[in-house]
Formats: sequence, C-alpha cells, structure tokens
Amino acid sequence: MYDVLVVGARCAGSPTAMLLARLGYRVLLVDRATFPSDAPRCHFVQPPGVARLKRWGLLENIKATGCPSIPAVRFDVGPFVLVGSSPSTDGDVRSYGPRRTVLDNILVDAAARAGVEVREGFGVQEILMDGDRVTGIRGRTLDGATVTEQAGIVVGADGMHSIVARTVQAPTYQTKPALTCAYFAYWSGVPVEGIEIYERPQRVIFAFPTNDDLTCIAVECPVQEFQTFRADLEGNVLKTIALAPSLAERVQTGRREERFMGSGDLPNFYRKPYGPGWALVGDAGYHKDPYLAQGITDAFRDAELVTEAIDAGLSGRRGMASALGPRCSGSWVPCVEIRPRRIAFSGPWQAQSLSRSFSRQNTSSR
Ligand SMILES: Cc1cc2nc3c(=O)[nH]c(=O)nc-3n(C[C@H](O)[C@H](O)[C@H](O)COP(=O)(O)OP(=O)(O)OC[C@H]3O[C@@H](n4cnc5c(N)ncnc54)[C@H](O)[C@@H]3O)c2cc1C
Repeated sequence: MYDVLVVGARCAGSPTAMLLARLGYRVLLVDRATFPSDAPRCHFVQPPGVARLKRWGLLENIKATGCPSIPAVRFDVGPFVLVGSSPSTDGDVRSYGPRRTVLDNILVDAAARAGVEVREGFGVQEILMDGDRVTGIRGRTLDGATVTEQAGIVVGADGMHSIVARTVQAPTYQTKPALTCAYFAYWSGVPVEGIEIYERPQRVIFAFPTNDDLTCIAVECPVQEFQTFRADLEGNVLKTIALAPSLAERVQTGRREERFMGSGDLPNFYRKPYGPGWALVGDAGYHKDPYLAQGITDAFRDAELVTEAIDAGLSGRRGMASALGPRCSGSWVPCVEIRPRRIAFSGPWQAQSLSRSFSRQNTSSR
C-alpha cells in the first residue's frame, strides 16, 4: 500500500512524485513509456517553469546537458518587430528549451533519487474503485505480468486522454474544440536570436535553440487545414517558413536532422481535478493549444500545488477534500485563459490590430 500512486512520469507526474517523496511519503510512479524517450511535443519552458526547476535543484542538470538559455524574445508580426527579454522571476532565471529526451529523463531521475519507486514500461489498464472512491490501479508490466497496487490517493498525470479522468468521469468545462494543428522538427546550422516568433495570416512560426546545437522550428496553422497540411508536411512547413524570409534564408543553408513531429489533436478544456481518492495534474486536468507554450510550466505549478494539498490531507492537518478543494478551483489556478480567436488566427490579422492599439496608445500618451 502506497501513500500516493502517480500515473504518468513526464512534466506533471515526475515532479509531483519527487516533491511528495521529499516530504517522506511512500510514492509509486508508473508510466507505460521508458526513459529517456521523446514525445511529440515541443519544450520551450517559460521563466516561471525554469524558476521551479531551479527551486527543485534541477536547473543545473539541464544546463549540464549543454542546453542554452534563451534570454531574448523576438516577436515579428510582419510590419514591425517587438524585441525584449522575458521577465526574470528569480534572479538570472530565463527560458530554456531542453529536448523532451533530456527534460523528462532528468525529472524521472530526480523522482527516483528522491526515493520514489519508479516503474517504467508499466501500462495502467484499470483504475480500481470502492464505491465512488479510487483505491488503486491494475496494470501490465513490460514482461506481460498483471499487477495490482493500492494507494491512499491516485494522481492522474497521464495526459489529456487520462485513464484516471475517464474512469472517474471528471466533469469537463470551458471546452473549445481544437483550433490549430502544430508540427515541429530540428535543424542544424540555423542560428537563432533567442526565441523568434513570426505571426503571419493563418500561420505562426517559432524557432528556438535546444540541445546538441540544434534549433527547434515549430509551425501552427488552423486545424481545418490539418489533412492538406500533413499531406505534404515538408513542403507546407517550408512554405510557412518562407513567410519569414530572414529565418527562411538560414533554414536554406541549414539541415533538418530529424523527422517532423506534431499533432492536430489539440483541444482546449478544463476538468474538475480532484475527487475521492484522486487528483489530476498537467494536461490531464487542463489542456490547451500549445500556442502560448505554457503546458510544461502549468504542469510544474500543478505539481507544487497538489503536493501541498496532498501533504495537508495525508498528514491530517486538513481533511483531504478540503485540502484539495481550494487548491483545485479553476484546475490548480491556470495562469492563462484559453484564447481561441487569437489561436485560430480567425479574427482580424493580429499585426493590424496591434498596430491600431499601438497608435491609439501613442496618441493618448502624448
Ligand atoms: C505539438 C505540441 C507542442 C507543445 N509545445 C510546448 C512548449 O513549447 N512549451 C510548453 O510548455 N508546452 C508545450 N506543449 C504542451 C506540453 O507538452 C504539455 O502541456 C505537457 O507535456 C504536459 O505534460 P503532462 O506530464 O501533463 O502530460 P504528458 O506529457 O502527456 O505525459 C503523460 C504521460 O502519461 C503516460 N501515460 C498515459 N496513459 C498512461 C497509462 N494508461 N499507463 C501508464 N502511463 C500512461 C504517458 O506515457 C506519458 O508519458 C506542446 C504540446 C504539443 C502537442
């Protein structure tokens, strides 16, 4: 019998397990994946996420992999460019873009070092219930054995298609269908100035440096174009990059090193993230379009909040439901709203509306 059982060992699950183990709890962390492994998701980590890595003592591990910091943001909306640096929330903390093979592996290792029992290659097939209370899991190991485990609380850190959320029928609210699709790949020989963001009609392009001297380039387009876009991924990604000539020149002299990854399955929703014997963190509780590159940072924040709440509940300082409740209102207090029109690029072109609001501000401040 474990105090806490965490399903899913990436950005939400490993830190949750690590933080609880550091408080002395007996924690089991399972994932059907083995690590290090890639995931078809980008990895620009915003300063508040990096601040948490630093607080947990893991930023040095990221730096040790040679992953460069990303101090500058260059936001090109066509007619003009905004250049700045991300606000530093904690001393010298800036953004980083560690590969998922690097980041997720560091998080799993940190959980194991904290005393978490980690089982990789373990697929959860069933969430065990006693009435309306979650009591444990049944799953299958890599060698095919079926295993049952019990815990005081089961945390679903198992992504947007969470088996925990499905089993408890966690209510979903503020849902918006997928509005975009996103694809990315890695290039060598494409130097970038921090993160470069290009907004173009019906398109957005991101380019930022990552491990192994590679540059991650990602593009998003409306989900209605998903089938036609993926029918010629390379051609359509290059056509999109051509909308940003200064980046396109560099891409022409560089070399794509890996296959394209991405998804058109990018719905927007919140789920009620707690109930008897269960809680949800990360994408399992709150999924949104990756346009704002906020998912990893939100997952880290969830890990801290759910740890505080579970600690209060398990230690008896508060009843578990009342400990989880205030922490959970609004799905661990998401820090960005879903902004469907902006993401879908369906409103008036952003540059025009930005230009208009700039000239209005300039006029009124004179
Ligand atoms: C194309 C794309 C680009 C993105 N770009 C960014 C970005 O630049 N910056 C950013 O911050 N966010 C980005 N995001 C969002 C970000 O990747 C996610 O918000 C984040 O990965 C969520 O982490 P998680 O741990 O909650 O879930 P996941 O990363 O989905 O991890 C869930 C884990 O649970 C495991 N699992 C699931 N079901 C089971 C089961 N039944 N049994 C055992 N294990 C199970 C899976 O194997 C997986 O390892 C992007 C997303 C996409 C799709």
